Amino acid sequence: MGNNTISEELYSKAVELIPGGVNSPVRAFRSVGLHPRFIKSGSGCRVMDEDGNSFVDYVCSWGPLILGHAHPEVLEALALTMKDGTSFGAPTRREIEMAELIAELVPSIEMVRLVSSGTEATMSAIRLARGYTGRDKIVKFSGCYHGHSDGLLAKAGSGAATFSIPDSLGAPKSLVEQTIVLPYNDIESMGRCFEEFGSEIAAVIVEPVAGNMGVVCPVPGFLRGLRDICSKSGALLIFDEVISGFRVGLGGAQELYKVLPDLTCLGKIIGGGLPVGAFGGPRRIMELLAPVGGVYQAGTLSGNPLAVSAGLTTLKILKRDNPYQSLENKSARLADGLGKILSAKGLKFSINRVGSLLSVFFGVDKVNNYEDAGKADRSVFNSFFSNMLERGVYLAPSAFEAWFVSAAHLGADIEFTLECAEKSI
Ligand SMILES: *Cc1c(COP(=O)(O)O)cnc(C)c1O
Repeated sequence: MGNNTISEELYSKAVELIPGGVNSPVRAFRSVGLHPRFIKSGSGCRVMDEDGNSFVDYVCSWGPLILGHAHPEVLEALALTMKDGTSFGAPTRREIEMAELIAELVPSIEMVRLVSSGTEATMSAIRLARGYTGRDKIVKFSGCYHGHSDGLLAKAGSGAATFSIPDSLGAPKSLVEQTIVLPYNDIESMGRCFEEFGSEIAAVIVEPVAGNMGVVCPVPGFLRGLRDICSKSGALLIFDEVISGFRVGLGGAQELYKVLPDLTCLGKIIGGGLPVGAFGGPRRIMELLAPVGGVYQAGTLSGNPLAVSAGLTTLKILKRDNPYQSLENKSARLADGLGKILSAKGLKFSINRVGSLLSVFFGVDKVNNYEDAGKADRSVFNSFFSNMLERGVYLAPSAFEAWFVSAAHLGADIEFTLECAEKSI
């Protein structure tokens, strides 16, 4: 890679002004030993960098762009909304429509509050659960990421794993001590934990399909087991569907696996590429939030007209077009094709996939939790990553991230990806 590309020049300027040159650590190409490409534009399933290179994009803004980049209907909605002003700090009509649609499509949600990021959604849901139960401890699972609030950073998956930061500096010990971290997919350890601490646990928060240690599917009985244990002990079950919501189906993982949480956190797709998060659940819990109840939660730009417009348009398109079968077919073709290529080369691998979310782990034959994921071969991934990038396929720059297939990826893009993979491995 040359030293004089525009991306290189921008990067050397950026690192002087922005820590690591990036506004979110996962964007850095550090773990793959490269510098990030600066992106100039996106259209459909492709992004273009500042040097004019075009890539088939499997990052898709880390999940939100299930319809692809610069979707014409989303852009049009934004343009129209913008004419009336960008923010009022007062309720607007569209927020009701958005809440109505979310409540209609996500089985366990009766009431919902909009925020501006997934981090805010999970942080607020945890506070609500503590307020509701009057208990302090929470349970999370190793390798699951729930945003970067202090209490949720323990063993938080990809971003932290990529940089070998198991737990963040600066998170107060007294707070982190309230977080119990258990292995994903291990219902026995959950049972033992509740025998000991059950009466102190406010909530169990889980990614019902884990997407932040690479994709890890819930083993049969895991989610149901969590539901049963929580119901018995009075702890709230929180599904963090910031990735899986509107991704694995219109009703998210809770509909797919037929297990209903008490609270659901949403983000990514529901913002259609603008900053939106949400958390919701039954009225009896949600009405504990201010101004009705005593759990405080607020946001200057929450329910922002532009963000809601992009999100609402995206959700309406998903409901109207129901692209999930087509996403399933394309993603299955991609996963099967990758599997055949790797098998033909005699390589050991594991491909985990739920719908249009998938991960390839090199050098291991099964990944059911964070420990398994940690055994994957990073050096094989790193060379695969840079070879794919050279050939025009943009993957997430970490061995522990998902590939996101969008409705804008066409059959030809999948075949192109497979040809690149064949030459890149
Ligand atoms: C991305 C993500 C978050 C955090 O969302 P932000 O919008 O980045 O704050 C929380 N939970 C999960 C499962 C995520 O993938």
